[in-house]
Amino acid sequence: MKYVLVIPDGCADEPQQSLGGKTPVEAARTPGMDAEAQQGVLGLAETVPESMPSGSDVGTMSLFGYDPLKYHTGRAPLEAAAQGIELGADDWAIRCNLVTIIDGVMKSFTAEQIGDADARGLIELLQRDLCGDTRWKFHAGVSYRNLLLDRSRGTAAPYTAETLTIPPHDITDQPVEKFLPAGPGSADLRKLMDRSRELFAEAEVNQQRQQRGEPPATQIWLWGQGSRPALVPFQERFGLSGAVITAVDLLRGLGRLLGWEIITVPGATGYLDTDYAAKGAYAIDAVSQHDFVVVHVEASDEASHEGNTAAKIEALEQIDEHIVRPVHEALKQQPDGYRLLISPDHPTFLRTRTHSHGAVPFAMCGTGLAADSARTYGETEASGTSLRIRGHEMLPLLFDQQK
Ligand SMILES: [Zn+2]
Repeated sequence: MKYVLVIPDGCADEPQQSLGGKTPVEAARTPGMDAEAQQGVLGLAETVPESMPSGSDVGTMSLFGYDPLKYHTGRAPLEAAAQGIELGADDWAIRCNLVTIIDGVMKSFTAEQIGDADARGLIELLQRDLCGDTRWKFHAGVSYRNLLLDRSRGTAAPYTAETLTIPPHDITDQPVEKFLPAGPGSADLRKLMDRSRELFAEAEVNQQRQQRGEPPATQIWLWGQGSRPALVPFQERFGLSGAVITAVDLLRGLGRLLGWEIITVPGATGYLDTDYAAKGAYAIDAVSQHDFVVVHVEASDEASHEGNTAAKIEALEQIDEHIVRPVHEALKQQPDGYRLLISPDHPTFLRTRTHSHGAVPFAMCGTGLAADSARTYGETEASGTSLRIRGHEMLPLLFDQQK
């Protein structure tokens, strides 16, 4: 049996007045998703527990069959895995943004999308300043998205579940003072942030940026800390091989930790201009090599963050036409049967332009699944059905592996 999961990131939304009371996916022309709902079952899933921040790191962990309350340790360890950085048992990974803070206010959580070369220069400056201190290791990533490792080397790191850090993208235009790291281990993090401010004030990179009329990266902002998650490899847990197609680091990292093949698709951008047809074609190809294939598309989430209703509808229609429909057709040719699942990782509201909690609609169809009475794929139709599950219960249902 072959299994495919399609994730339209952040697809779930509220009814829109501008769409005559329909949600974006209900307003979009999506015959592929509708056929899936008609031929199979439709339901609602809670992918992000109320007690956790809503994001793709938590939501996709749920979709992949792992309860985030049990397995999620933080966002940074997943990004470290995506970069091929191995964490030891006592190591912690911490996200290290390069940010612009002016007069104590978070002006840019990206230092205005700082270029890779400038970012690398500043990260290297920090590492040099540590003068061989082996506890801390900075890793330059892409643009403002860098990592810091706390290699505690045999002694337990000082952080606990009570260590509180705040994502800098949540505090744009706000005074940062009350959002600084707090709780166990936070003093060390704040010390590094303070030191970066001193170093960056004098940095040549920043002088050059100012000459070019670009804002300086005034300091680092540390957040998203976590230790290595104790994930049971997917093959071991479900007895199936897996592969993931995505342009997003977090999902690549999670896939790598689960032991999946990470498939790179040329033209996959993680943005609205992504090559949908290429993703569909690569997914069909991957089905011949693996038992379970995940196709993730970020574009619907990006459109929501921009508050762009038309772009969100367009993204969902593209996903339907170039991924859901061709993949479903290919699956129907599988001699040993198939199951197809579509589900967002979390809602992202056009109204608030941010991730939200609450249930997402999911549809699954294929061999041996009797149809319920659903006619279309969407939030309203899904709330009319009786199927309610938690996100991590979805794959066991797809695989017929419920305990
Ligand atoms: Zn997401």
